[in-house]
Amino acid sequence: MKASSCRVAIVGGGPSGLAVATELAKMGVDGVVLLEREQDAGGIPRHCGHSPFGFREFHRIMKGPGYASRLVRRAQQHGVSIRTGASVAKIAPAGGLVLSTDDGVERLKAEKIVICTGNRETPRSARLVSGSRPLGVMTTGALQSMVYLKHRRPFKRPLIVGTELVSFSALLTCRHAGIRPVAMIDNQSRITTWQAAAWLPRLLGSRLLMNVELDEICGRERVESVKIRDAAGRVSSLDCDGVVFSGNFVAESSLIRGSHLELDARSGAPAVDQFGRCSDADYFACGNLLHPVDTAGWCWAEGQRIAAYVSASLDQTLPPAERSVTVETESPWIKYFTPQRIALPDSFSAYYHPGLQLRFSEKLQGRLSLCDEHRNLVGHKIRVQPERRVLLSLPASESLSACESLTIEFTPSLEKVP
Ligand SMILES: Cc1cc2nc3c(=O)[nH]c(=O)nc-3n(C[C@H](O)[C@H](O)[C@H](O)COP(=O)(O)OP(=O)(O)OC[C@H]3O[C@@H](n4cnc5c(N)ncnc54)[C@H](O)[C@@H]3O)c2cc1C
Repeated sequence: MKASSCRVAIVGGGPSGLAVATELAKMGVDGVVLLEREQDAGGIPRHCGHSPFGFREFHRIMKGPGYASRLVRRAQQHGVSIRTGASVAKIAPAGGLVLSTDDGVERLKAEKIVICTGNRETPRSARLVSGSRPLGVMTTGALQSMVYLKHRRPFKRPLIVGTELVSFSALLTCRHAGIRPVAMIDNQSRITTWQAAAWLPRLLGSRLLMNVELDEICGRERVESVKIRDAAGRVSSLDCDGVVFSGNFVAESSLIRGSHLELDARSGAPAVDQFGRCSDADYFACGNLLHPVDTAGWCWAEGQRIAAYVSASLDQTLPPAERSVTVETESPWIKYFTPQRIALPDSFSAYYHPGLQLRFSEKLQGRLSLCDEHRNLVGHKIRVQPERRVLLSLPASESLSACESLTIEFTPSLEKVP
């Protein structure tokens, strides 16, 4: 079996992986190899033929494919070696990777590895929707890849399930391809993304149906109709020729599941400290793998930060994880948070780190705080929506030195959320 080595291997060539690779190369780290399983690097934006991308990175609004190729060009200009068609099949202790490539299976050994495999939408199989298995059922990602990369029109009148930002991306993709969705549905009373987007389906000739659930998909060869159920339990039939399951993102952590790295049960992502360092200190993680789902610009900025930590780790100037304080919560409303450990002493991250990143499962308002065994360390009032990023700053490292563990507490207010 072919074997090679490098200083840093980056798994995944989306905005976060490209940012880590480019920044490391800019810092003068030699031997940075980026591994991407697809035939082109660029990640999800490659499929998104719409804006907005690139404002943070290039100070202009760009469409996904142009943005992705500009990130790739920049990485190459700085000397990053990009290997496409190289899927990482296995990760092991001491930086050992097994790659599946067009030329067969290879071994690669790296001093440090950064995993940036992103996230994916929850497909039909995991949503337990009953009915037949006809053609025309897909996620937004699959729809975008068909429309923008293969120039195909998979249906004419699909149903879109979900009202996250990505669901509106599905709506715009349909418009681009001359597809008019019959409706967008959600089982909540308000759309998940910004309320201002609620006018868009109607403007594009589709209905927006709230408090409605998809019960069944019907059709022999192709989708012919769906059965939907309203909050009162009434079932009605809707004619359509496809179904797009949008959003409900989960971490793309198949690689982690079969490995020695610790997995965080809430997020389904690798457990990391504030440096993005995994339970094996040779491994780091970054991007939407850690926090499904954020914008490309946010993941890119995180990639730059993680690159600084990886470089410090190569130089052995990153604070060692001598003593880690675990972060916990018992709040039923907190869907996940990251990082799950704070490594001490930390004289490094205060200048860089945005703090704890959280997601809530419901629309709520109340007080969010971080406490140690004795006192409330930081806290503020918040108003949250599901799938929106919530930040909680970390206190100065000196005030954590005596902590055994930290707890995130959320106390919902009794006032009704407007
Ligand atoms: C439909 C849709 C529309 C969006 N629209 C916008 C928008 O308009 N603006 C915006 O800012 N953001 C948008 N986003 C979000 C944006 O795409 C993400 O924030 C960004 O792509 C995350 O970057 P990433 O590098 O973490 O992950 P990804 O972009 O998902 O990249 C991960 C990469 O890892 C590769 N990979 C996975 N496993 C392996 C493996 N085992 N071996 C090798 N390679 C592997 C994948 O092929 C992929 O290229 C959208 C997302 C979706 C799904």
